[in-house]
Amino acid sequence: MSKKKIFIWIDHRQDLFKDTAMKIWENPEKPFAEFTASSLQADILEKEGFTIRKDLKDLPTAFVAEYGNGRPVIGITGEYDALPKLSQKRVAQRAPVQEGAPGHGCGHNLLGVGGMAAAMAVKQAIASGEIHGTIRYYGCPAEEVLAGKVFMQKEGVFDDLDACFSWHPASMNQVWSCSFLAVNSAVFHFSGISAHAAAAPEMGRSALKGVELMNIGAHYLREHISDQARMHCTITNGGGEPNIVPAEASVWYYVRAPKRDQVEDIFDRLKKVAEGAAMMTETEVRVEFLAGCYDVLPNEVLGDLMYQNMLEAGPPKFSDADKAFARELAATFPRGQKESVLRSYFAPADLKEMDLHEGIVKTEGRGKVMAGSIDVGDISWNVPFAQITAATWPVGTASHTWQAAAASGSDIGIKAMLFAAKTIAGSIFDLLADSSGEILKKSKQEFKEATKGFTYKNPIPDGVKPKIPN
Ligand SMILES: [Zn+2]
Repeated sequence: MSKKKIFIWIDHRQDLFKDTAMKIWENPEKPFAEFTASSLQADILEKEGFTIRKDLKDLPTAFVAEYGNGRPVIGITGEYDALPKLSQKRVAQRAPVQEGAPGHGCGHNLLGVGGMAAAMAVKQAIASGEIHGTIRYYGCPAEEVLAGKVFMQKEGVFDDLDACFSWHPASMNQVWSCSFLAVNSAVFHFSGISAHAAAAPEMGRSALKGVELMNIGAHYLREHISDQARMHCTITNGGGEPNIVPAEASVWYYVRAPKRDQVEDIFDRLKKVAEGAAMMTETEVRVEFLAGCYDVLPNEVLGDLMYQNMLEAGPPKFSDADKAFARELAATFPRGQKESVLRSYFAPADLKEMDLHEGIVKTEGRGKVMAGSIDVGDISWNVPFAQITAATWPVGTASHTWQAAAASGSDIGIKAMLFAAKTIAGSIFDLLADSSGEILKKSKQEFKEATKGFTYKNPIPDGVKPKIPN
């Protein structure tokens, strides 16, 4: 089974992949609660002859599907969680299917299925006897809260991989060769003493004042952290009625920076700010650590291999109807968004004129850091890793928006998903067909040099469990 046949095989099975991606799009599930999406995929893979492992500690919606024997062992990661409050119909205006419900504003309904399709295609080639090795698809929960793969890493499921691949929905086709910001996500819970705010204010110790003073301290701290670092927060509990001194209040922080050790340093300083605020207000503060992940170490050898395969697979070709829908969606973007998104993706200038990207961009982001976070980072510091983005959305669409949700449920998304699946499957075919093992050797050599003197430490402290929604 040649590589060309793999691409054709993916096209032949596209109804199954489209149907699965649409089922997940129509049934958006919160992080760690993707029960339908994960069993849909696990069932398909089991029927295809993959062995399924579902016993990952505290992760009921994670699974590992495997086919083949011996080395090399190649991994593909997939995701399927949705974002809060982004429920959206397939139309070019804000129109929730269900008010307040989650929606696929990051295209993870496509992400997981694209990876699954690639794994199934590689399986065909292994089964035909033409290539040898083991293919694994990782059903990964809760990417949106930057936690799923980091918890999975604790279980050691990525440790024996020779290489790992992924992709992500976006508005252009490119090798995603940049790094991302490492992050810690934690809630600071302040506890004080309740009292009548008018009749006995002297009896009260306000937890909300603790939160407010912590935020002021954080504003002052911001001047003394590196330019690319970020601290942002929302007050998740500000108390109740104004006439009652709040006994409980909470603030949720993200601390981000280009390197993991910078995040840890800033996070320690932020904890001191919280303790100072608690001391000033005679309240107590407790830190609830939710998640943390590494920056990304992209493997250039594997990135170049993916680029070659993007060319061989050929970029998605969009119909006039796709282009018309893209134009309608783009007309709703806030002024300056297209330029801002393209800048953040290090996109070439000519993309600005396009409605949908039908080209292929090589490695514009190499050596740069994208101002977002992604939980594949923890895999990339353990095994050679590469990923691409595919044009599932109109050019200049911001992720985590209703426009991204609408496009992820349209033919635009499906076409780009099939392109991503072919690229990943083709890249893995090349690795397994390379009897000299030369590409893998080079990618491992690069990884070894890049991680010289580095010891990986999982960012999630022992005892912290995934927060599974009710
Ligand atoms: Zn995403």
